[in-house]
Amino acid sequence: MDTIALGMPTYKERRIPTRSGQQYFIRTFGCQMNEHDTERIAGLLESDGMEPAGSADAADLIILNTCTIRENADQKLYGYLGSLRALKSERPLRIAVGGCMAQKDREVIQDRAGWVDVVFGTHNTHRVLDLLDHADEWGPITEIWEETTSTEAMPSALPTHRETPHSAWVTITIGCNNSCTFCIVPYVRGAEISRRPSDIIREVRNLVAEGVREVTLLGQNVNSYGRDLDLNGRKPLFADLLRQVGQVEGLRRIRFTSPHPKDIRADVAAAMAETPEVCEQLHFPLQSGSDSVLRRMHRGYTGERFLARLEMVRSHMPDLTVSTDIIVGFPGETEADFQDTLDVVAAARFDSAYMFQYSPRPGTPAAEYDDQLSKEVVQERFDRLAALQDQISLEKNEALLGSTLELMSEGPSRKDASRLAGRTRGGKVVHCEASVPPGEELFATITSAAPHHLMGVPAS
Ligand code: SF4
Repeated sequence: MDTIALGMPTYKERRIPTRSGQQYFIRTFGCQMNEHDTERIAGLLESDGMEPAGSADAADLIILNTCTIRENADQKLYGYLGSLRALKSERPLRIAVGGCMAQKDREVIQDRAGWVDVVFGTHNTHRVLDLLDHADEWGPITEIWEETTSTEAMPSALPTHRETPHSAWVTITIGCNNSCTFCIVPYVRGAEISRRPSDIIREVRNLVAEGVREVTLLGQNVNSYGRDLDLNGRKPLFADLLRQVGQVEGLRRIRFTSPHPKDIRADVAAAMAETPEVCEQLHFPLQSGSDSVLRRMHRGYTGERFLARLEMVRSHMPDLTVSTDIIVGFPGETEADFQDTLDVVAAARFDSAYMFQYSPRPGTPAAEYDDQLSKEVVQERFDRLAALQDQISLEKNEALLGSTLELMSEGPSRKDASRLAGRTRGGKVVHCEASVPPGEELFATITSAAPHHLMGVPAS
C-alpha cells in the first residue's frame, strides 16, 4: 500500500454519483463516537449513489469502523478480516478499515491484511469516497492525518444516514486534552477542537427541520467545550451552548455525553435545570473509587470529590438518572482499592453502569505498568461489582413503580413487536403496550421493574 499526498478533491466537489446501485455494509466496533462516524460514512456513501446491504454477503463494499477501547478489539478485527479474505476471493469486493485502530495500527493492518483496499484514520472520514476512487484506479491506499486543526474533519459536517430518524448525535468537540493512562483516544483522535456554537445551532436547526426531536451533544469531555475558541475575545461555555440549543424551535430533548467529573461546574448544572429540553440524565464516568488508582489513571479527582460533584448536580436536578463507567482490575488495584470502588458505587447509587474488566491497550501508559492483575482476580471483583450494581439498579427502578413518566417512542420493541419501546427523559427503556410512531411522546404508568428495563401501560 502507499500513502498518498493530501489535497485531492473532497466529497463537496463531486457532481455525479459514481457508485449508483452498489451496496455497502459497515460493521462498527466501538463507542458512540464510532457509531456517529459510521452514520457519517453511510451518508457519504449514499451521497455517491450507494445503498445499504442487508448483510456483508450482499455488499460490494465492506467498511470496518474500528475501536481500540473495547476489549479484544484487535482479535475481533483480524478475525473478521480473515473471513472477508475468503469472500473477496470469490467475487469483486472492496474492503476498507477506518477508525481508531486504523489510525494507530496502519502498518500492522497493511502487514497482516494485505487484501484491505483502503485504510483511513479518524481525521480522514470525510475523504472516504476519494480514497475508494483511488483504490479503484491505483490500488490499495492508506491515508492517516496525524493531526488536524480543521473542523472539516468534524463528522457532523458530513452528510449522514441516521439509524433512528427522530434522534441524532451532534458532535461539539473532537479529540481530548486529557491524558487518562488507560485511554488511547488522545493518541488517535488528537487534541481537542471545538465547533463554533453557530455551526452547532445551524446543524441542530437543520436536524429538527428533517424531523429530529432529540439530540445528543457529543464530545470526549463536553465540559471543556469552547476553551480553544475565541469569539471576539470571549470563550463560549458548555452551559451557554446548552441554553442556546434549548432555544431551537421544535427540539424536545437534549442529552449530552460525556462530562468529566473533574471539570463539571455549577453553571452547567444550573443550565441543565433551567433548560426544559435538557433531560434529567447524566453519564458521569467514575472509573474507580480508589484515590490511589484514580491518581495512577490521571483522572484529576478523588472518590470524595466525585461524590461531591454528583451531589452538586443532583441538588439542581433531583430526578437525575445517572450512569457511569467503571474499570475493574486496573494495574496495581488492591482489594482495599476495590473496596473503595464498591463504597463509592454504594454511595453514588448509579441507575446503571458500564463495567469493564481492565485489559491493556497497546500504546497507553497503563499497558506498560508492571503490576497487571491476574484474570481470575479481575473476574472475581467484576462479579462482586456487577452484583452490587444490579441490586442498586433494581432498587432505583422499583422506586418508579406506580409513577407516570413521559416516554419518547422508539417504535416496536425488538423483543416483542406487539409492544413499544420508549425512553424516559432519564434514558431508561420502558416496554409498553401501545402503538405510537417513533419520535412521538406518550405517558406511561410503570407496572413492573427489572434492573435494566421497566414495563408500563399507557397512562389514562
Ligand atoms: S477524558 Fe480520559 S478517558 Fe475520556 S477520552 Fe479523554 S483521555 Fe480518554
